[in-house]
Amino acid sequence: MAGVSYPYEYDAPVSQNLFDRASAVTPGGVNSPVRAFRAVGGTPRFMVSGTGPYLTDADGREYVDLVCSWGPMILGHAHPEVVAAVQEAVARGTSFGTPGEGEVALAEEIVARIEPVEQVRLVSSGTEATMSAIRLARGFTGRAKVIKFAGCYHGHVDALLAAAGSGVATFGLPDTPGVTGAQAGDTIVLPYNDLDAVHAAFHANPGEIACVITEASPGNMGVVPPADGFNAGLKAACAKNGALYISDEVMTGFRTSKAGWFGVDGVVPDLMTFGKVMGGGFPAAAFGGRADVMGHLAPAGPVYQAGTLSGNPVATAAGLAQLRLLDDAAYAKVDAVSREVQALVTGALSKEGVAHRVQTASNMFSVFFTADEVRNYDDAKKQESFRFNGFFHSMLSQGVYLPPSAFESWFLSTAHDERAIERIAAALPAAARAAAEATA
Ligand code: PLP
Repeated sequence: MAGVSYPYEYDAPVSQNLFDRASAVTPGGVNSPVRAFRAVGGTPRFMVSGTGPYLTDADGREYVDLVCSWGPMILGHAHPEVVAAVQEAVARGTSFGTPGEGEVALAEEIVARIEPVEQVRLVSSGTEATMSAIRLARGFTGRAKVIKFAGCYHGHVDALLAAAGSGVATFGLPDTPGVTGAQAGDTIVLPYNDLDAVHAAFHANPGEIACVITEASPGNMGVVPPADGFNAGLKAACAKNGALYISDEVMTGFRTSKAGWFGVDGVVPDLMTFGKVMGGGFPAAAFGGRADVMGHLAPAGPVYQAGTLSGNPVATAAGLAQLRLLDDAAYAKVDAVSREVQALVTGALSKEGVAHRVQTASNMFSVFFTADEVRNYDDAKKQESFRFNGFFHSMLSQGVYLPPSAFESWFLSTAHDERAIERIAAALPAAARAAAEATA
């Protein structure tokens, strides 16, 4: 999209300078692709600080943040109690490479919140969590094949980078070079929300499927919640065929309710993966589930898994402080503010006659530029995503920071207050007009 100019793009000289420097020393100028603004065009904003619902960029402009670091910052930025916990932990040392009480306390908090999790292993990223859960499922069952769904993203695990949603959707890459046929060969990719396809895959691969991995409620092709009975159907199909049901709650965990999506639909997985919110803005993630399955992990069992910084004392302090603040009232607040923003968005787009759908999973939501229900990745790709670019830049120019892609969830926090909502409301009419006027 280089060379395309957007009417709402405005100068960001300091960010531009940083981006030029970054591009010389880092591929594409960023350390994670979707940050680069390639889908929407323009200069990515380099942020220097965050407070509550706001981010401030290197040019000194303040934005209402509707990305929240792609989910983790559910209490807003620099929450005083999280910051205090981090400062207290840092002062005691940053990494010991030994067990510590903080990781026990965080594991206990996770086990207490999420009934199906009897044991948990801490890791440093969501990618590590899903990679390790898949390995464990294969080690436990002695089987090789994995079912995943098109449009679900589980991190950049080689075997799972097939039809993997947002980042990949944004760039239009069908797959990625560097993943060999052998690495992806045992991955069966099925359409989301299609139980018949799941039954057919089990029928065609008797005794070979180790697990089904699914986003508990997908957010990586935009928000596409499971149809009624879909997750329960997956669980039943796995149980019937001796496979494990892995629910990836890296995005939904501790966000869509106190117990994540499990707290919403109550379907009991064999294994679950977590990240984002549980790290309080630090690199902390986890996988856990049935004790008899988790007992196969080293050193208790033969399936190897390890990490120099796993259970890092600063990350666990941040995560624990954040989780302890996330009570029922906190979720009620995020849910309410999310509903308010959804209503504002749909009101503004409707007023301009822009066909759209707001799809939700508790307080996660996304806006699809199509009138039709989006039930899977193919549906998501049919939206008029070109309308999002003008919408995005208009919002940005008015001080509202949206995810820079039409295939992402928007995230809110307990810190989004009246002032922040007012700014969103004030920005939406012009953004909706930009969406209406956009051409393919
Ligand atoms: N699983 C899901 C559902 C995710 O949304 C993500 C990241 O967005 C991951 C796994 C990977 O997590 P990480 O980026 O921490 O590796």
